[in-house]
Amino acid sequence: MAENSKQINKEQLIKRYQEVKNKIIESAQKSGRSLENIKLIGVGKNHSIEKINFVRKLGLEGCGESRVQELLDKEEQQPREIDWHFIGHLQRNKVKYLARLNNCKMIHSLDSLRLAKEINKRARKNQRNMSVLVQINIAEDKSKYGFKTKEIHELMPKLDKLNRLNIKGLMTILPYFDDPEKARPYFKELRQIKDNLNKAGYDKLTELSMGMTADYEVAVEEGATYLRIGRGLFGERYS
Ligand SMILES: *Cc1c(COP(=O)(O)O)cnc(C)c1O
Repeated sequence: MAENSKQINKEQLIKRYQEVKNKIIESAQKSGRSLENIKLIGVGKNHSIEKINFVRKLGLEGCGESRVQELLDKEEQQPREIDWHFIGHLQRNKVKYLARLNNCKMIHSLDSLRLAKEINKRARKNQRNMSVLVQINIAEDKSKYGFKTKEIHELMPKLDKLNRLNIKGLMTILPYFDDPEKARPYFKELRQIKDNLNKAGYDKLTELSMGMTADYEVAVEEGATYLRIGRGLFGERYS
């Protein structure tokens, strides 16, 4: 059943939000982490702007979308109010639309050098810098984009030359596991790659975008700084 975009179940959204927040707090305590380093991105794909806005105001760090057109449609309904995080595979011919939006705060899904060059070019045209995360296909999942782990150390000096890019950290999208514990080794590995890059002198890479509805508690324990949560906050996507 398609939802009527104007009728949102506020109680249910509050309940979901509190549940997610409480679990984040618990996992942070368990692992001795400070909450201020754990930022919650609400992934509102297929959900209405009313719903997204309601949850955003409960306390989100930003809103995530995985399709450019959907992000632009929502931006048009709420100009310049939302901090957008782009999290899906980005085609080079769509970069220009994101570069124009100063409130597009982060591209989590930098998955090729050609894309990096295009973002750099469009950022310069718009007289800005763009913050990006390097996507690593840590589980070597054939259906997912991203660099291979072994490519990263060769890639970094090339990215460093693109002076309109602020490389803030790493991101990964894991396959769905029935048991979140199965995600843990991959989260650990992403963190390890970041630590190694930091030791190699890339000390501005501080962010780890990892953890979705199925596994965010484990992600917090393993050092996630951005959680990308969709269903856990907004409910099923009806798709
Ligand atoms: C949809 C999506 C999410 C959120 O997934 P949920 O399982 O709904 O939490 C996170 N990251 C990316 C890249 C996505 O496309």
